[in-house]
Amino acid sequence: MPESYHCGFCKALISLADVNVAADLALCRACGKTMAFSDIAPIPGSADVDLQRPPKGVRIEDSPIRGRSIIYRKTSPAVLFLIPFTAVWSGGSMYGLYGSQLKEGHFDLFRSLFGLPFLLGTVILVAAILFMLFGGWRIGYSQGVLAVALEIGPISWTRRLSCDRSARVSIRSAKWQKNNVSQQLIQVECQGNTLNFGSPIPDEQKAFIAEALRRSLAEG
Ligand SMILES: [Zn+2]
Repeated sequence: MPESYHCGFCKALISLADVNVAADLALCRACGKTMAFSDIAPIPGSADVDLQRPPKGVRIEDSPIRGRSIIYRKTSPAVLFLIPFTAVWSGGSMYGLYGSQLKEGHFDLFRSLFGLPFLLGTVILVAAILFMLFGGWRIGYSQGVLAVALEIGPISWTRRLSCDRSARVSIRSAKWQKNNVSQQLIQVECQGNTLNFGSPIPDEQKAFIAEALRRSLAEG
C-alpha cells in the first residue's frame, strides 16, 4: 500500500517525487513551502494500531480525574545482568573503600576520596535497577497539557507541554546512537515547542504509544 503525505501547511497531497527521505525534506507544489519529511511522515505501522490491543507492557488507563494515560512498564532483561554485576562491583568496592574504614574504626581521607566515583557509580546502578524493576512511563493528556512522567514507585519526574489539536506527533532519530544505530524517539510539537521522549522504549511499543497519543491529541 503506497503511503500518502500531506503538506503540513495547506494539507495538499505531496507527490513522492517531491520527497527526499535521506535529506528529510518535502516540498509542497501547492503552496511552495518546504518542510521536514519527518514532520509529515505517518508513524510507522500506525494504520494497524488497535488501541484495544496494546503490545506487551503497554496499557491505556482512562480516569475521570487524570484523563487518559498511556502506561509503559516492562522489566528489562538487562536487569538480570545488572543485579549480579552491581552486587559484585559495588559490594566489592564499597566494602574495600568504606567498609574497611568502619571495621578499622578510623577515617582515611585518601580511601574516602578515591571511593567517591565508586559511590556515585553505585547510586546510579542501584537507581537503574530500581527503575528497571519498578519503574515505568506514564504519558497523559488532559485539558490541554501533555505530561510525560518517569515513575519509580511513588517518585516521579514529569515534563509537560501545552498542546492542542494542532500538535504533531512523530517518530524521529535522536541525536545519540547506541552501538552505531541511531535511536528513535517520540516528538510532540505544538506551536513551536517540542517535547522529546521515549528513546529507551522498544520500537513496537514506541510506535503504539506515539499513535495512541496522536489520536488522543486529535480528539482534543
Ligand atoms: Zn502546502
